[in-house]
Amino acid sequence: MATTAKDRTAKVQKDRSMVLQKQMIAEHFRRLEEAPESGEPVVYTFVPGNLTELIRSFGALPLLPEINALQSGMRGKSRDYIAEAERAGHSEDVCTYVKCDIGMLKSGNIGPTGTRLPKPDLLLLSYTGCYTFMKWFELLREEYDCPTVFLQIPYQSDGKIEPAHRAYVVEQIRRDLIPTLERITGRAYDEDRLRHHLALAAQAEDDLVAVLESAKHRPSPIDAYFGAVYYVGPIFSAFRGTEEGVEYYRELRREVEARAAAGEGPITPDGPLNEQRYRLVVEGPPNWTSFREFWRMFSREQAVIVASTYSKVGGVYDFGFRHDPGDPLGTMADYCGGCYTNLNMPGRVEMLVDYIREYEADGFVINSVKSCNSFSAGQLMMLREVEKCTGIPGAFIESDLVDPRYFSAANIKNRLESYLQMIDARRAGNGA
Ligand code: SF4
Repeated sequence: MATTAKDRTAKVQKDRSMVLQKQMIAEHFRRLEEAPESGEPVVYTFVPGNLTELIRSFGALPLLPEINALQSGMRGKSRDYIAEAERAGHSEDVCTYVKCDIGMLKSGNIGPTGTRLPKPDLLLLSYTGCYTFMKWFELLREEYDCPTVFLQIPYQSDGKIEPAHRAYVVEQIRRDLIPTLERITGRAYDEDRLRHHLALAAQAEDDLVAVLESAKHRPSPIDAYFGAVYYVGPIFSAFRGTEEGVEYYRELRREVEARAAAGEGPITPDGPLNEQRYRLVVEGPPNWTSFREFWRMFSREQAVIVASTYSKVGGVYDFGFRHDPGDPLGTMADYCGGCYTNLNMPGRVEMLVDYIREYEADGFVINSVKSCNSFSAGQLMMLREVEKCTGIPGAFIESDLVDPRYFSAANIKNRLESYLQMIDARRAGNGA
């Protein structure tokens, strides 16, 4: 009997990597909920430049507010949380991740998986490229009256991390952060333990890069934007540098390589996408409130995403960076300074141009989100520059992260369809 799309989707639900990820997240939130009783210290921090290995080396648990916000968006809870924050006086222009988090806090601080979230023992900001992050933690500091460490991370204005910048970040980690972690956890800094976590991080990073680069195959066995959101979840949040993280990425890589060997495409909300008519690169974060609807707009047109910049916000590993256990503090400084939104504009343009060429893309789409200036500022210039360098016209669409008021399905669908028709017309013109 022929296998239907539904069967295949049902099968993938049982893939071991998905089961593992679900278990890991459930267990992490269980430990967070029990932290007030178990005494495990909790460090709130953000995805870009996060220092998970260091946090873990002190036996503390990381909690990432923007992951909670995006999860709330995916689960249909963000509208009410944003309304709650706006009633409390937060402007409509403020990043919706912040309002979603503040609204959740004011509504009882029950996290997206339904468990109560603990208070932080430390607010740790290790990426200052986004001013909103700083303001966000200032609001939480008023709420929790807990210690804060705000590292200053120099912007890569000349397209590289200067030795003085690196030394400056290392010094802040050594002078401010480590003593604070010692104080709040009651543990002494253990560099061997940190090296152990960094070595685990590098193993998972190798496997993640293999997964992302599998999109060079035809058909691509992954969707490197919508599908990649699930793939990068563990490494961008609490599990980089852990045994569970290593196991997850080993398993994921095995599954993706098996799919590539079988000539199969990724699973989308409509089933497997084996016939791939368009290969696209995407810049910008996805919309979370209509995530599946957004994905379907691409997959129903047989468009697969072969590379994206959003899947690099927690680490630009495919350009060679790996956490280095041989230089624990230096490697963390490099990681903080190397996050995607800390790159300068020419660097970001170059990355998109590389992706279009390396992954033999037919086109590229910029999703400009209203909330996030770190991503959106300069995107129109990037569009023009990438078009100039590649000779390929791009598409520009607009939405938001977790505010459903800014997702206009009809507009986005129209623009995307017109764009794909334009790719067809260019192909016909080239005799392809
Ligand atoms: S503005 Fe962007 S980077 Fe800053 S908190 Fe909001 S989503 Fe994150």
